[in-house]
Amino acid sequence: MGAMRIAVLAACAVTLQIWGTACDRRTCQRPESESQRQPESASVEREREEMGKRTTKTDAERKKQLTPEQYHVTCQSGTEAPFTGEYWNFKGKGVYVCVRCGNALFGSDTKFDSGTGWPSYFKPVSADSVEERPDNSHGMKRTEVACRKCGAHLGHVFEDGPKPTGLRYCINSAALDFKESAESKAE
Ligand code: FE
Repeated sequence: MGAMRIAVLAACAVTLQIWGTACDRRTCQRPESESQRQPESASVEREREEMGKRTTKTDAERKKQLTPEQYHVTCQSGTEAPFTGEYWNFKGKGVYVCVRCGNALFGSDTKFDSGTGWPSYFKPVSADSVEERPDNSHGMKRTEVACRKCGAHLGHVFEDGPKPTGLRYCINSAALDFKESAESKAE
């Protein structure tokens, strides 16, 4: 009887272990250890983590929602060619929002002509607009700017901007949508 009880307990333990492993694979999608994983660029991996954490949309849904250029910039940390985007030389009055989630990012009153060919701002709309993180890709040390709400890659921030902040948020037009202010529409 004692031996049978031990056999049953052992069978239960094995079953629980198998079930537990399967559960881990379902929830975190990362069964391999760090060393076993295929190498991939830090930005791609980071973007995947961010998307997994903060968006309910799948990659396929993002591809459907966005143009190829918008997808490349916001989901793959791409950069549009300078002087080609919709907003580098745009002077409308209003708010620039995230093309993916509509989060308010930059006001037209903080936009300035940086001469770079990308829309440039000296500060975000609010503390909820963007988050900044180190980006050491392409052999450069830069600070990446992403939408705080959905994690979309927006561009980079540099410390050579105008007063009052001395910052230059260098942003891809493809990551932005523009909402004209009510006063500007009335004019
Ligand atoms: Fe967003």
